[in-house]
Amino acid sequence: MELVLSIWRPILEILFIWGLIYYLIRFFQGTRAIQVFMGLVIIAVIFNIAKILELNTINWVLTKLFAVGVVAFLIIFQPELRRALARIGQNTFRGGFLKKGGPVDELIQACEYFSRHRIGALIAIERDIGLKNYIESGILLDAEVSQELLITLFTPNTPTHDGGLIIVGDRITSCGSLFPLTQSQDLPRVLGTRHRAAVGLTEETDAVCVIVSEETGQISVAAQGKLTRDLDSEGLRKILIHLFKPVENPVVFKDWLPRHWKFLQERNPK
Ligand code: ATP
Ligand code: MG
Repeated sequence: MELVLSIWRPILEILFIWGLIYYLIRFFQGTRAIQVFMGLVIIAVIFNIAKILELNTINWVLTKLFAVGVVAFLIIFQPELRRALARIGQNTFRGGFLKKGGPVDELIQACEYFSRHRIGALIAIERDIGLKNYIESGILLDAEVSQELLITLFTPNTPTHDGGLIIVGDRITSCGSLFPLTQSQDLPRVLGTRHRAAVGLTEETDAVCVIVSEETGQISVAAQGKLTRDLDSEGLRKILIHLFKPVENPVVFKDWLPRHWKFLQERNPK
């Protein structure tokens, strides 16, 4: 037994560390955090070389830097860490968003109207991660989703048209909410803050955003930090149905890892 353990222990440990590093790199890939992560790796390499060559001053400086580094790490990675923790605690609530003749149809019809009349709109729909903070940054509402109300709320020059509207299940919970702007460099320059706020929110949470451009009337959807542009109403419906399909089984721990893994794969396509 002792012998078996002594052989397996290092193999298990190596596998674990390898998995952890792989997971970390995949998680941070494509985000600004990867640069910081690579910076830390380089410092760690220099640190080890300095140790081997007994370069004590460099050693001393780097030891002090590492102590500060832990705090800096927490601050720099704060959005990523928050996202990761929020995802661990996610639940399966999808609400009645896809109900037949319900919110999804009203939303699509409103978007057609916005597109035809060149009215800018930004609508976020909550999925598993709660949007409480963002809801509270706007004007609180608790109303059934109807195209009439959506159109009224986004009518230009009204106090409610600015900012984002949030839908939870089959209710409009706020309008005029402020979303975080993405720092991504990948978005085309023609896209302004409305689209950047939509992408930003979907990087921070698993919400889905529908955007109608005031300038072009184009309908876009943002999910998982990615923007799909120039949709017609059929395209919009397909994407929304795909994203809001109810999860077949409630999430229990054994499902969490594969689901999470799939999410990461989708987020970082090869
Ligand atoms: P459009 O194609 O409609 O012009 P755009 O992507 O070019 O969109 P802007 O022209 O900058 O974006 O749109 C400005 C509007 O975007 C603001 O009036 C406001 O309603 C909305 N907006 C800007 N920043 C935010 C934010 N942080 N959160 C929510 N909404 C925002
Ligand atoms: Mg603009």
